[in-house]
Amino acid sequence: MIEDKNPQHTRLSELGEFGLIEHLTKKFKIAHKSTLKGIGDDAAVIDFTNNKCVVSTDLLVEGIHFDLAYVPLKHLGYKAVMVNLSDIYAMNATPKQITISIAASNRFPLEALEDLYAGIETAAKIYNIDVVGGDTTSSNKGLLISITALGHANEKDIVYRSGAKDNDLIVVSGDLGAAYMGLQILERENEVFKVNPQSQPDLSMYSYLIERQLKPEARKDIPELLRVLEVQPTSMIDISDGLSSEILHLCKASDLSATLYEDKIPLDPTVINSCEEFNLDSTTIALSGGEDYELLFTVKQEDFPKIKANPNLSIIGHMTPKNEGIYLVTRGNTKVEITAQGWNSLQQ
Ligand code: ADP
Ligand code: MG
Repeated sequence: MIEDKNPQHTRLSELGEFGLIEHLTKKFKIAHKSTLKGIGDDAAVIDFTNNKCVVSTDLLVEGIHFDLAYVPLKHLGYKAVMVNLSDIYAMNATPKQITISIAASNRFPLEALEDLYAGIETAAKIYNIDVVGGDTTSSNKGLLISITALGHANEKDIVYRSGAKDNDLIVVSGDLGAAYMGLQILERENEVFKVNPQSQPDLSMYSYLIERQLKPEARKDIPELLRVLEVQPTSMIDISDGLSSEILHLCKASDLSATLYEDKIPLDPTVINSCEEFNLDSTTIALSGGEDYELLFTVKQEDFPKIKANPNLSIIGHMTPKNEGIYLVTRGNTKVEITAQGWNSLQQ
């Protein structure tokens, strides 16, 4: 890509590294008393007193994880935060701080990074997160964003992938497959746009799908809901790569197998409709689409009455002994083995 030469844009080199950091971070306010020192020294200082600190990092690379042809930078900033918070919620912990590291080529003017940071700021405000540091550098090509999230939890509340027991119920929040179908819509419209830049498509009927792709929300509400219901999950993972790959992770970590039921997998009607339009199988999309950022967890059988009627939760199967194999029971009552078809950027 060529250097941005729009005279209305400010080149990053005009500000210098320190000016840029100062400019991008001046709006961030510290809200938590656990943040003893945020941006401005060699390192941030965090005090979680008697709680355990839960840490997670994600790296997003242009061309691998996002395509700026159809992802607005503001949404990208928001989503980059969500991806990290989702991992902290999946430990049944509460995220409190993030650090943000970016590398941008000279294709990106200051205004582009301002948009990115506007999305980050919105996410931090809504989810009550302090931005406590980061790093800023240039790249030869494209944009990279790495966010690290810090959260806290009582040790006894932390939920690992490894805690599921035989017969535990398998539960998923929300619905699956919409983010993947949103990506299909955006990619299709991008192809149309390349041929006919005048086209003004009406995407309103796909708004749920597009929103799930561009502006996912981490399920902050689910650990809170489970606390209210007095349900402690035995294991938990967030769905970033797709249900099939996440259930395989839970099974492997817990040394068990699982049986899932096709007719129990939660699908939004717009996913079913768009799958018909694209000639795709909606179960396959729910299993391997990815980027749903829902929570997949297991609970004891005795907790069934506490969760059965909750509209946010679907019971989709149960854990089985290790040697049983990991299966999906289809609507036609046949057993299909679940394999790792989860979306994987390394396969691209
Ligand atoms: P150092 O030279 O020690 O890496 P920097 O000059 O890179 O320090 O950073 C100065 C301060 O600004 C530090 O507190 C750092 O965490 C923060 N910071 C740097 N880049 C970013 C960024 N992209 N977003 C948020 N904070 C940042
Ligand atoms: Mg630095």
